[in-house]
Amino acid sequence: MSADVELQNVSVSFGNFYAAKDVSVKIEKGEFFSFLGPSGCGKTTLLRAISGFSEPSDGKILIGSQDMAGIGPNKRPTSLIFQNLALFKRMSAIDNILVGRKLHSHANFLDVAIQLPKARKEEKVNMKKCEEIVKFLEIEKIKDTPVGKLPYGLQKRVELGRALATEASLLLLDEPMAGMNVEEKREMCRFILEVNEEYGTTMVLIEHDMGVVMDISDRVVVLDYGKIIGDGPPEEVRTNQNVIDAYLGVSHGE
Ligand code: ATP
Repeated sequence: MSADVELQNVSVSFGNFYAAKDVSVKIEKGEFFSFLGPSGCGKTTLLRAISGFSEPSDGKILIGSQDMAGIGPNKRPTSLIFQNLALFKRMSAIDNILVGRKLHSHANFLDVAIQLPKARKEEKVNMKKCEEIVKFLEIEKIKDTPVGKLPYGLQKRVELGRALATEASLLLLDEPMAGMNVEEKREMCRFILEVNEEYGTTMVLIEHDMGVVMDISDRVVVLDYGKIIGDGPPEEVRTNQNVIDAYLGVSHGE
């Protein structure tokens, strides 16, 4: 398998403080990969750097062998699901999903405004794709409901739908299950696993619920103070002494 994402000696600093320090990791195509670690260890910092919302202060990020330096988030083959909901609350579920599709559109504003055949054809294709996503995520019944009126778990599912509509080959999930009840978490896990299996989308997940991470990941990288302290399949990481110590707060005198 080829590496889909490669972090080469990536550091991210804020002034003199390093939120991530010399992190090197390769994520394979189609892998379900998770970053785990205590609060403040640098997980979101790395996800933002991969997505292009921030740039590393040192090192390189490659996606599909291409150096991402200077390439903004909309130009990367990634879609980031934020920790907090980022949907248009008054718009329907399907219209929110369509927003993701627009990022994929080749027709420009003028084409759409004067209804050129190219734009009309693309609108049709976009709508068909969105309907497919609605079906896949089992949200047919609520597709016309304003998302602000939906329970939190369903809103997050719509957000997943919007990410799918961009057809990104790499999905970055920043605590997609935060604030969910057990049933909502179970449903969200089911859908993100299905996306991974059905579309072969590479997944990079941050999640505080250790049980969830261990259940659904192929591989887990554990960070502490911005550095990698464990890397492997869940069953291996679970018994890694450095990881156990980090969670129990044992000092190694570093
Ligand atoms: P959590 O699990 O609580 O979300 P995290 O592992 O995602 O934490 P980050 O959000 O990556 O951690 O933060 C890593 C460190 O970098 C923290 O100490 C945080 O306070 C610091 N940090 C993050 N963003 C900034 C910023 N813009 N300016 C200064 N420090 C920052």
